[in-house]
Amino acid sequence: MSPFRADLLAGKVALVTGGATGLGLEVAGLLGAHGARVAICSRKEPNLEAAVAQLRGDGVDAIFHVCDVRRPDEVAATVEKVVEQFGRLDIVVNNAAGNFPAPISGLSANGFKAVVDIDLLGTYNVSKAAYESWLHQHGGAIVNISAAIQYRGMALQAHVVSAKAGVDALSRACAIEWGADGVRVNVVAPGAMAGTEGVARIAGEDLQAMPHIPLQRAGTTTEVAQAVLFLASDAASYVTGAIVVVDGGGWLTSGESAPRST
Ligand code: NAP
Repeated sequence: MSPFRADLLAGKVALVTGGATGLGLEVAGLLGAHGARVAICSRKEPNLEAAVAQLRGDGVDAIFHVCDVRRPDEVAATVEKVVEQFGRLDIVVNNAAGNFPAPISGLSANGFKAVVDIDLLGTYNVSKAAYESWLHQHGGAIVNISAAIQYRGMALQAHVVSAKAGVDALSRACAIEWGADGVRVNVVAPGAMAGTEGVARIAGEDLQAMPHIPLQRAGTTTEVAQAVLFLASDAASYVTGAIVVVDGGGWLTSGESAPRST
């Protein structure tokens, strides 16, 4: 049972990148459940098809486009098609990301670049295309999905913390430049979310006991998606350039052991 009014996003159109899996699919479903028509995009068509079937089964008016957020031409075409099909665009959620654990010494320049390209350049490409094709004339809300590990740093995640710190900084710059056009730009910074592919790759089963988290547990994708819904909605009409950390307070304490030289 959502704590938000069911028609909170009635009449709005949302684009969610990486919306076929994990948090992105949860966000697409939650925005749709509150009245938005939803477009999702990513690279793997079978995942997109399955996700749209699931969303439609839940009563959401949903479409998909195959799009690599690293490619400005594909991104611009996707944004144009969404506006053409749904007639408008109000909400953009930059959720697409890449991740894998790797020590800095074992990380290739290409590996580092791949994550920065998807997370940071992808967020830039999609935000810019949405702004130029629709938002600058009509206003709207952009919500960028960041992370909380960049606030302290994390072993094996140098590429990710670098990319996500960039997403935080880019979001503030967009908020400043686009505020006068009625475009709000905010960040949701999730901690570890139980049951996601992303966390399985990094933390495995280690989420069971999380004594360093003040709220004493991992979060859920629903809890993170609710923060996205708030920032995307008119309830956040005077909020821009903000970073909402949704991590049970975890980044405030340090649960990590420093790696030892062997
Ligand atoms: P996920 O399931 O791995 O989803 C990532 C999505 O991004 C996939 O749908 C993937 O689809 C898409 N994607 C990857 N590269 C892309 C590209 N080049 N172009 C377009 N789409 C691309 O991830 P998740 O765990 O749900 O995480 C979602 C977001 O939350 C990410 O921004 C992540 O950094 C952040 N986050 C997650 C956690 C966590 O606990 N999981 C914690 C902190 C932050 P394709 O492969 O089909 O393209």
